Amino acid sequence: MWAATGEPWALPVTVGAGVLVDIDHGPDLWWTFALRRTPAASFVLHAWEWLLGLSVLAFVLGFPWWLVAVCVGYGLHVSTDHLFNRGRPLAYFFFYRALHGFRMARVFTEGSADRAYVTLEKEVPIAVWLIDWWKARKARKAL
Ligand SMILES: [Zn+2]
Repeated sequence: MWAATGEPWALPVTVGAGVLVDIDHGPDLWWTFALRRTPAASFVLHAWEWLLGLSVLAFVLGFPWWLVAVCVGYGLHVSTDHLFNRGRPLAYFFFYRALHGFRMARVFTEGSADRAYVTLEKEVPIAVWLIDWWKARKARKAL
């Protein structure tokens, strides 16, 4: 992006847009594993609709480098998630997930929540520690 736009800041903006998207998994993971509720798939920042909106905005604004960088980083993230996370064909459309009540089992395949937990253990161990701490705290309170 730096080479394409000539703007050095395009690099961190692209990487940031491509990585920070995953922050939206936090509420679903907490809901599912700490609160032990029906696995949820809301992740509001992951959606083809938002990429379409960002692209239209970029067009209207005359393709500013920073918005092109956001579109590329975000688009690569949603594309790779869509290809590799074994969801149903429309799983990465926000309104499709909403139509299915944001239920993981209806949007992704069986066992998706378990795979998400394994990934969490590998990639964000502090989140697993926090969930375990919460469960232990709740168990102590129940006594
Ligand atoms: Zn993601």
